Amino acid sequence: MEQLVYLNGSIVPKGEAKVSPFDYGFLYGFGLFETMRAYGGHLFRLSQHVKRLKRSAEILGLAEPLGRYDLERACLETLRANTLGDARLRLTVTAGEGAPRPDLSTCSAPTVLVSAQAYVPLLAEVYSRGYRATVSSLHRNSQSPLSRLKVSSYMENLLARREALLAGTEEALFLNENGFLAEGSLSNIFLVVRDGLITPSLGSAALPGITREAVLELASSLGIEAQERPIALEELLQADEAFLTNSLMEVMPLVEVGDRAIGQARPGLLTLTLATAYRKLVDKEASSRY
Ligand code: PMP
Repeated sequence: MEQLVYLNGSIVPKGEAKVSPFDYGFLYGFGLFETMRAYGGHLFRLSQHVKRLKRSAEILGLAEPLGRYDLERACLETLRANTLGDARLRLTVTAGEGAPRPDLSTCSAPTVLVSAQAYVPLLAEVYSRGYRATVSSLHRNSQSPLSRLKVSSYMENLLARREALLAGTEEALFLNENGFLAEGSLSNIFLVVRDGLITPSLGSAALPGITREAVLELASSLGIEAQERPIALEELLQADEAFLTNSLMEVMPLVEVGDRAIGQARPGLLTLTLATAYRKLVDKEASSRY
């Protein structure tokens, strides 16, 4: 069966989904997106993802024309139309078509696209070995109005990622303009120090990750102290454990940064406790919808 996508209110075969060549998302990267994971047909924290996108849409001035869309429904419809249970789903919103001379006021109708594919899990060995990361030569600007938004332009993320992959590692870490840790190219970062968690504050130029939020909730319910604050790179290198989070890979141990081992260079106990707790949370939320 050909993949079906949701485009501007209709479910259509992928081959028939047409987006204008003059879409500002395509021409200028003016758009937003969300990546979510579905477990047995349940989209984990769907409403939080849609809320994050809507908050960003307000900042970018896209909220009003987006108002006529029920984005949660669009995501669920796309999943059902493709008869997917375990899936990765992407919601993309761009400013839509505009005039040749760059002017956002000429964009009247946003483009709304949802696509979903079967989720292919990472091998268990990857989790039991953990990720290695490089520190990117690119910096995050904590003062940029885009720094905490999930904007379509992932050029810096992709360039950082290319550096990381060429270095034989799995993730790139961004520092901000003050030299503090911000986030990974596709993930948020946590340190474990003396049985407590530390994660970069959002003001460090970290995306308010949905997984990050869930991990902070879990830490609180497990009585694990958690701090959100600026973190120097050296603190990461001295940490007992570290891990990365995102919606698709959940909790991934981070065992090496730029050739330096983190802790014992293997997944730590608290990381594994939180990874297990996260999985339980997913199961609980997926089963409570019935
Ligand atoms: N930071 C960046 C740059 C990301 O691309 C992602 C993945 N969306 C995250 C953090 C983690 O966000 P989430 O937990 O919402 O998937």
